Amino acid sequence: MATETDLLQIDDQLGDEERLIRDTVRAFVTDHVLPEIADWFEAGTLPRPVLTELGKLGLFGMHLTGYGCAGTGPIAYGVACRELEAADSGVRSAASVQGSLAMFPIWKYGSEEQKEEWLPRMAAGDAIGCFGLTEPDYGSDPSSMRTHAVRDGSDWVLSGTKMWITNGSVADIAVVWASTDDGIRGFLVPRGTRGFSARDIHKKMSLRASITSELVLDSVRLPSSAVLPEVTGLRGPLSCLTEARFGIVWGVTGAARTCLETAVSYATTRTQFGKAIAEFQLTQSKLAWMAVSLYQAQLLALHLGRLKSAGTLTPVQVSAGKMANARTAIDIARTSRTILAANGVTLEYPVIRHANNLEAVITYEGTEEIHALALGQALTGMSAYR
Ligand SMILES: Cc1cc2nc3c(=O)[nH]c(=O)nc-3n(C[C@H](O)[C@H](O)[C@H](O)COP(=O)(O)OP(=O)(O)OC[C@H]3O[C@@H](n4cnc5c(N)ncnc54)[C@H](O)[C@@H]3O)c2cc1C
Repeated sequence: MATETDLLQIDDQLGDEERLIRDTVRAFVTDHVLPEIADWFEAGTLPRPVLTELGKLGLFGMHLTGYGCAGTGPIAYGVACRELEAADSGVRSAASVQGSLAMFPIWKYGSEEQKEEWLPRMAAGDAIGCFGLTEPDYGSDPSSMRTHAVRDGSDWVLSGTKMWITNGSVADIAVVWASTDDGIRGFLVPRGTRGFSARDIHKKMSLRASITSELVLDSVRLPSSAVLPEVTGLRGPLSCLTEARFGIVWGVTGAARTCLETAVSYATTRTQFGKAIAEFQLTQSKLAWMAVSLYQAQLLALHLGRLKSAGTLTPVQVSAGKMANARTAIDIARTSRTILAANGVTLEYPVIRHANNLEAVITYEGTEEIHALALGQALTGMSAYR
């Protein structure tokens, strides 16, 4: 089904499973998210039942196999992210964190017991997970993290603080990355563990319909079975981020599409100087550039989806997609806002919400600058991180 603005009919490239998932998620957000999202955004909340519903729809960890996960292809996962983010980046973030940042490390690096204990419940939306990598003093440079874990007999004792953690205070299980004598390791920290607490971060002006928290680990004692046994080093969390960033490459095209559609609809009905503002050439030029930028982003997402389906997708290719598509999406959202002018700054229309959300999206999971450095290194062979 081509939308009115899909002049290149890019969605015709989707297979049957992908269309089914697109239509299912689109219907879900139309019925259950869009009527409420402006209020959630204003209140700065994402109600917990929404997460349960996303689980019931089979969207959590949908690209993983076994343990109650749907086992869809990467493009189907991308399409689901796109349709969620067409509603709101916060809702897509909830699904990304659950599936790619919390379930994926357990699925990929966990013990059989850890997988069986957590993955089926997380897939169903009965248990929520979060991913704790960023710290107050270390964001782009997680290798310098202060959170550390030391052995005490057969136990581990974790201390440190994690910052900006999506779903932190509602999570039943936190995947916390900590430095150890052997390098960075991942730990599963259940809610309620003594010494472990989460406090929400308020006054955000972006991703307001998303829970963001600080995690405090004050000498948290964990059994040896809490460590993810199959990975050591920064490649553990970075591999999770590559998974999640793939979802962003697709997701932001949903936000951008909503902004384009809103601008077209508004421009064709709003009149000034005796005619629809869509009749002015300056408006049409904006719409045309928004549309072709969106098509380029959609084609890039589809291309990366095909590479991922073929098993050849590399982290630097994902960096290219995340960097390019997040920038394209925020530019489209801001241009859409100019077409709606004063109405564009209210929550009566979705564009300022998307534009504000995309401020966080260009920052989290690797800032635009960090992805530029990844591409710069791949192009030149020279690292410019330090
Ligand atoms: C709403 C939200 C949700 C989030 N959710 C999570 C989550 O669930 N889990 C989690 O672990 N983290 C999460 N984050 C954190 C996010 O990943 C970090 O904010 C991000 O990695 C950037 O870190 P920082 O904010 O500390 O910025 P810094 O690293 O301090 O960067 C500041 C500026 O310096 C630039 N910079 C840094 N290093 C270089 C360099 N070498 N060269 C050039 N420029 C450089 C950056 O690009 C940026 O512009 C979230 C953030 C937000 C806003």
